[in-house]
Amino acid sequence: MLGKGSRLYSIRTFTCPRCQEGQFFQSHPYDLKNAGNIIEHCPSCGLKYEKEPGFFYGAMYVSYALGVAQFVTLWVSFNLFFPWIGTYAQIAIVIFVTLVLAPLSYALSKIIWANLFYHYDKEAIEQHRSAH
Ligand SMILES: [Zn+2]
Repeated sequence: MLGKGSRLYSIRTFTCPRCQEGQFFQSHPYDLKNAGNIIEHCPSCGLKYEKEPGFFYGAMYVSYALGVAQFVTLWVSFNLFFPWIGTYAQIAIVIFVTLVLAPLSYALSKIIWANLFYHYDKEAIEQHRSAH
């Protein structure tokens, strides 16, 4: 399920959703100057990542879902494992974790969004090569 050909492979390796070879982002998520900036075309298969203008605005839905998941995970962990941590400390930890994970969530939301629309195609690189 985590191997090549699955969406999770593209997501966890930050590679092209179609060929899963070419890189997706200009840089890693914590290079804050270029955080979340996407390369225009996949360097390996030529896929244009931004399907249409504004395509990546949709990633906001994914970002929201990730934010909720993160909050619920923290809240459940506090209640199950650290019930002695006070409410204000919990809020502070939630804010801290949210800030620290923000660049990663931002990048993840974009690559997850792209993976909802593009599918793995192992022929993609060959076709791209023979067309050029
Ligand atoms: Zn590609």
